[in-house]
This record gives sequence, structure tokens and C-alpha cells, in this order.
Amino acid sequence: QTPTRYHLTDREMIRTIYHPRDPFAHKGTYGHALLIAGSYGKMGAAVLSAKACLRAGVGLLSCHVPQCGYDIMQISEPCAMCVTDEGSTHSAHFHTLPDGATYKTIGIGPGLGTQTATARSLERLLEHYQRPMVIDADALNLLSVYPYLLSRLPQGSILTPHPKEFERLFGTAANDFDRLTLLSQQAVHLHLYILLKGRYTAIACPDGSLYFNSTGNPGMATGGSGDVLTGILTALLAQDYTPKAAVILGAWLHGYAGDLAAEQLSQEAMTATDIITHLGAAFRHVI
Ligand code: AMP
Ligand code: MG
Repeated sequence: QTPTRYHLTDREMIRTIYHPRDPFAHKGTYGHALLIAGSYGKMGAAVLSAKACLRAGVGLLSCHVPQCGYDIMQISEPCAMCVTDEGSTHSAHFHTLPDGATYKTIGIGPGLGTQTATARSLERLLEHYQRPMVIDADALNLLSVYPYLLSRLPQGSILTPHPKEFERLFGTAANDFDRLTLLSQQAVHLHLYILLKGRYTAIACPDGSLYFNSTGNPGMATGGSGDVLTGILTALLAQDYTPKAAVILGAWLHGYAGDLAAEQLSQEAMTATDIITHLGAAFRHVI
């Protein structure tokens, strides 16, 4: 089966998806999200994700990090709470498993590492947590080593592979068209949203539709860009956007913030941090 419905996202479409905040809202209205991220030497990925999540409107954010990352996270992002893992350098296992009553959604993967103990944690988490979540980076790499876990992901979860991660997960395709077909087939088969990152990020939905994101630039080809996207998507799920709305709006905002960063700083000089800095202006462009 080949994808039948193609769409190119534009500002008008994004405007119909975005919903303004309720004047009577409190922080509980916008959800408590959990980010499971970071390892020794890769705490930056966790910090970038956390900062992006907060800038994308999450109500409350907790970050689950290894012990070595506790001070780093607390000092880098005072707006986030911090839970430490039993592992000192990697996310090895949980004291208590995160539950759906506490956390509206979970983002997992940036800087996580791919230790066997982390894979076991992921497996236990999937037995315990049933709400749609965002799965990126090393969490995707773990899924490609333990593919039976793919079918245990909560339906409606969002996977955000770059082309290499996609290939590890689902194999190689002979050409771009075959790869898009494979992407769409997997999204339908697994009941997941799969966002294949690149120049025109392709978003495959479980209903067979396929969206191409129209924002972004090669200045975003820099370490940490993807971790920022994970934070944004996690924040949007926490705010009760449907997974489909979250993935389309999130990809668009991420790319547009990147475009604003490049305009101000150049594609060369911008970093992933600058994408976060420009998220506010990207939101204002949608409103
Ligand atoms: P990652 O490889 O996980 O850090 O993710 C990189 C992010 O930057 C993705 O969201 C990509 O879509 C975006 N990106 C990287 N290169 C480009 C490009 N040439 N044009 C547009 N977006 C890009
Ligand atoms: Mg990445």
C-alpha cells in the first residue's frame, strides 16, 4: 500500500491547529511532562530538550536523569524539576516507574545511551505506561536492537528518527519514493506517527496520510537540533494537542524558529540553543 494523501504544511494550516491558552488556565491545565534523557558526556541533549519543552508551553516538567546529571540539570534549568535514576552515569533503572496518573506524557531518548540496562528500563516502562509518548535518538536505537518493543509502544506515540535512525529501525530503501512508502506503511502498521527528519521532514500518520513540513534550513544541521524538537513535541502532547496536531505543529514551529535564528545569526553561526531562543517569535507568528 502506498500513501494516498499528501499535504504540505503551511501557516494557514498551522493556524487552524494552534489553540490559544485559556485565560482561566493554571499550570495543571498544560500537563506535567517527563523527559527521560542524558548520560555522562551527553547531558547537553537533556538540557536542550528540557529548555525547548518549557519554551513550548508545558505546564510542569520533570527530568529523569542519571545521578551525574542532577546538578547539571538543576543549575541549567531552574524551571524544571529533577528526578534521579539509580544509575550514576546512564539511565539504568527507575526507583519507581513513571505512571500515567502523574505524567501526561513522556519524551524519551536524547543523550540516553544504549546500555542493556537502559533497554530493560524501556521494556519495563512500556509495560507500565500507556499514554502516547515521544521517542527519539537512543530510545530509537534501542528499539532497532530490540524490535519486538516496537509493537508495545502506546498507540499514537511519535517516533522522530533522522535518516540513519530510520534505516536502523526499518531497513534501507532503494530510493526516496520507496523510503516514503516504507515510512507510511510502518506508521499504519504500528499505529504510530513517524516523523522522518531532513530538508522536508516527512510525517507519516497511522491513517495513511503523509505531511511534508515546509520550514527549516541547513543551519539546523547541527548537534542538538533534534533534541530541541523532542522537547517541543513533548510539550505539545502535555498540552492536550492530539498526537497528529502536535507532530504537525511541532515540526513547523521547530523549523520556523530555526529559520528566524538563521535570519538573525546566519546558518553557520546558529546553534540548537538559538532555535530555542527563537521559539517565542515562532509562536507569535502563528497567533
Ligand atoms: P537530529 O539529527 O536528531 O539532530 O535532528 C536534526 C533536526 O534538524 C531535524 O529536525 C531536521 O529536520 C533538522 N534539519 C537538519 N538538516 C536540515 C536541513 N538541511 N534542512 C532543514 N532541516 C534540517
Ligand atoms: Mg537526534
